[in-house]
Amino acid sequence: MRLITFRHGDSAVLRLGALDGDTVIDIQKAARMAGTQPPADLLDLIRRGNAAALVDSGKRSRGVPCDEVVVTAPIPRPDANVICLGRNYTGHAAEMARARAGEVTGPTYFSKAVTTVIGPNDPIPYDAAVSTQIDWEVELAVVIGRRAEGVEARDALHYVFGYMVVNDVSARDLQYGRGGQFFYGKSLNGSCPSGPALVTSDEIDPSRLVIRSRVNGEIKQEATTADMIFDVGAIIADLSRVMTLEPGQIIATGTPPGVGYAREPQEFLRPGDILESEIEGIGVLRNRVEAGSLAMRANA
Ligand code: MG
Repeated sequence: MRLITFRHGDSAVLRLGALDGDTVIDIQKAARMAGTQPPADLLDLIRRGNAAALVDSGKRSRGVPCDEVVVTAPIPRPDANVICLGRNYTGHAAEMARARAGEVTGPTYFSKAVTTVIGPNDPIPYDAAVSTQIDWEVELAVVIGRRAEGVEARDALHYVFGYMVVNDVSARDLQYGRGGQFFYGKSLNGSCPSGPALVTSDEIDPSRLVIRSRVNGEIKQEATTADMIFDVGAIIADLSRVMTLEPGQIIATGTPPGVGYAREPQEFLRPGDILESEIEGIGVLRNRVEAGSLAMRANA
């Protein structure tokens, strides 16, 4: 299933759907027709665990034409910060070791604030008073489906609900200028484009997906998820050993080489640039960088 959150026509109300050819199955409508309580949003649907049944019953009614909907982030407002891995592709670890210092000894984690999340077509805010080193990091995002505690790596994929594309947009000057923590420079409003759909785990093998980013049509990053140092199973095992992962938790699994900070000379995004983030089998995010005040851009 390819699950989306969308607006229909001029309505500001966010709705929950599943793509079915060139139409969208309205999952909340399908639930009402089936006589069950409609899920409030995608997080609620994940927790209830009845997505497949609702989508199946929704196929019996007429869908909404795709060209009448505006797709937003699948999970526009996560329950918890997005958990992120730093340096999880060999090539990126090497380029950052060159640009900075240090070797990878185990997964490095940080997080992005819930207010960073934006949709597949939303603008990425650019506020020169805050940062002039806005960089790209396309990543495979895992969304947890069942509470995970002490999970073995070999069982870990059973705890995954699905996958999205995200971009861990990073303000390098703030990331590296604050005593070693990344949180501040990784949590600018609008710095986590996500989507375009949440593709359920039965349709995705995360071990060998082509992953790439483009800026203004030029490829900047291109690799496969086979190049990850710690794969999805290893990451879930490592995290769930020390913390409970709840349904709906988003984990961004690190970026391949080719970021702007490690280029010679360095490159950063500028207002007007188009950043595309793509993963095989999931889709493409297309976000324009737009000048404006960051303080006005929270997704609440
Ligand atoms: Mg990253």
